[in-house]
Amino acid sequence: MRSLLTVCLALAATGAWAQTPAAHAHGVATLQVTLDGRSLELSLQTPLDNLLGFERGPRNDQERRAVRSMAQRFHAPAGLFRPTPAARCVPGDSTLSSAVIDASLLATAGAAAPAGTPASATGAGAGNDGHAELDATVHFDCANPAALKGVDVLLFQAFPRLRRIEAAVVTPTTQRGATLTPRQATLNW
Ligand SMILES: [Zn+2]
Repeated sequence: MRSLLTVCLALAATGAWAQTPAAHAHGVATLQVTLDGRSLELSLQTPLDNLLGFERGPRNDQERRAVRSMAQRFHAPAGLFRPTPAARCVPGDSTLSSAVIDASLLATAGAAAPAGTPASATGAGAGNDGHAELDATVHFDCANPAALKGVDVLLFQAFPRLRRIEAAVVTPTTQRGATLTPRQATLNW
């Protein structure tokens, strides 16, 4: 585990992660933003450590509460992503998945828990090194998509362990990448 962490840090230091956006590096996440018609989709892939401080299934009530609290933030995405107000974007569905956390803990608070689908620590994406990720996709429906010029990303305030986001934006008129940090957390296009 220590050697992998060293590799991750070395990759981050050299910028080599830019060629391998899926690399697992604590403090770093990737964000894919797609605007298609009125539909704005933001897809975040991040080490669980950035969100929870641990990368396994919760082992007690306190950790289960932490997982639910984290999940609810993504189910109320207006608190994490703020599209240009003039575009009049309204939050829609969010989907969360992780190889090491039971899907019922990641569902909306009001949703019925799916029966008998416990996540396995040996499942895909869990690996043997003790690292694991969360994939979160949130949607907005934008009444005036032509007015959408960017998104304020509030993830750094919500999850202080997160230090950098490698973002990619695809809209009908733009295709670009950007690096977001706590000091530069607005994605413009
Ligand atoms: Zn990790």
